[in-house]
Amino acid sequence: MALMITEDCTSCAACEPVCPNKAISEGELIYVIDPDKCTECVGWYDEPQCLSVCPVESIVPHPEHRESREELQAKHDHLLAVA
Ligand code: SF4
Repeated sequence: MALMITEDCTSCAACEPVCPNKAISEGELIYVIDPDKCTECVGWYDEPQCLSVCPVESIVPHPEHRESREELQAKHDHLLAVA
């Protein structure tokens, strides 16, 4: 599944540069994750990189974007193909 950033985000910007899929951007109030680009870092790393750097634990699984590891891998492969 894709991850999402909650309203606890303090806009510290720590997550944006660590995302291998460039899925994170600055929103109007807080940072946001594009669910079409987030693979939970599948295809790149063993762990979601944004989770590991968020100082306020404001990154959680997106309840409306549940995907299997195979689907996340396919999303990763598609993103690489269109890059
Ligand atoms: Fe980017 Fe990985 Fe965080 Fe998804 S889990 S937003 S791919 S750093």
